[in-house]
Amino acid sequence: MEYKVGVIAGDGIGPEIVAEARKVLDRVGEKCGHIFSYTEILMGGCSIDACGEPLTQEAIAAAKAQDAVLMGSIGGDAKTSPWYKLPPEKRPEAGLLGIRKALNLFANLRPAYLYPELRAACPLRDEIIGDGFDMLIMRELTGGLYFGERKTETVDGKVKATDTLVYSEDEIRRIAIKGFDIARKRRKIVTSVDKANVLDSSRLWRKIVEEVAKDYPDVTLSHMLVDNCAMQLVKDPKQFDVILTENMFGDILSDEASMVTGSIGMLSSASLNETKFGLYEPSGGSAPDIAGKGIANPIATILSAAMMLRYSFDLDQEADAVESAVKQVLKDGFRTIDIFPQKGEDASGIKQVGTKEMGDAIAERI
Ligand code: NAD
Repeated sequence: MEYKVGVIAGDGIGPEIVAEARKVLDRVGEKCGHIFSYTEILMGGCSIDACGEPLTQEAIAAAKAQDAVLMGSIGGDAKTSPWYKLPPEKRPEAGLLGIRKALNLFANLRPAYLYPELRAACPLRDEIIGDGFDMLIMRELTGGLYFGERKTETVDGKVKATDTLVYSEDEIRRIAIKGFDIARKRRKIVTSVDKANVLDSSRLWRKIVEEVAKDYPDVTLSHMLVDNCAMQLVKDPKQFDVILTENMFGDILSDEASMVTGSIGMLSSASLNETKFGLYEPSGGSAPDIAGKGIANPIATILSAAMMLRYSFDLDQEADAVESAVKQVLKDGFRTIDIFPQKGEDASGIKQVGTKEMGDAIAERI
């Protein structure tokens, strides 16, 4: 079958890491009889240079015409790049916010998986890590506190700032459905995280999530307060499969969960809309400090491509094959510089490789 993939290579290390993800997708295509046809889309700093703005209407239309979009990263060095002399709405990052909005990407997924070979990078104690952990944070991305009305005013001579946290039942229902659907592709456990002991929006969240759960009798649902969840993530991360939560809680918890896995170069992510369409990208930025050196870790982008296979194309076996190939290269001792053992750690049997060699090694193992 043919799949249309939009490719936003972007800036900095973006083009380098996306090239390796395409290499791996092409290998999957060869092995499994699929065709991935790519359409290059400009966004970010490179679009400012070419078109004078970070995201054009043509780019949005091109993205909408695809089955999914694979992205590298956008942006440059804020201190030295001329892009940051522009007003905020003209800077590279405005392109990212614009495309998320234009494509209605309301569900953000960030897996946190600990590879046994990278245990040393995990800041948790050995007895807490146990056999490792494998969870996915499902964060609502377009509602809640970050999108509510806000104002700063002076009342009786004192400055007062207000932010509002609003969720409608429809917004909660659609993310809950995504969460349960994705749990069905995993270990079938959903932990819904809220602050229902205080917030009305959380009480509505809990009620709607419970209603949705009735359609998924094979998935186990439990509720957890956000403060407890923040503790449990470092006390017993193994207990989690899918964490389903609202925008701000998800923002904080997904960073906490990713910190316990080690390197930023390993962290994939996806943002989905109501259809099967999604935008898939590594969690890291454009890393201007290492751009063009051929040393960036392409694994997060390759794992994002695996998520695309699983969630947009329903190619679960092919996604498994990519994830297994990543596990295998780590077992075989391949490391980019960011995941190379630190001084004092055992580096026997470990070889340092660049971006291309890592991509080749993964593609060979598909
Ligand atoms: P960053 O994630 O680009 O870099 C932080 C550190 O992590 C750097 O030392 C970098 O070398 C390292 N790093 C990141 N990805 C890596 C990889 N794949 N392999 C090896 N090392 C890697 O964050 P930053 O420096 O704060 O931001 C740089 C630019 O990226 C900024 O313009 C920022 O706005 C942008 N940014 C873009 C996105 C996105 O495109 N979604 C996300 C975050 C930041």
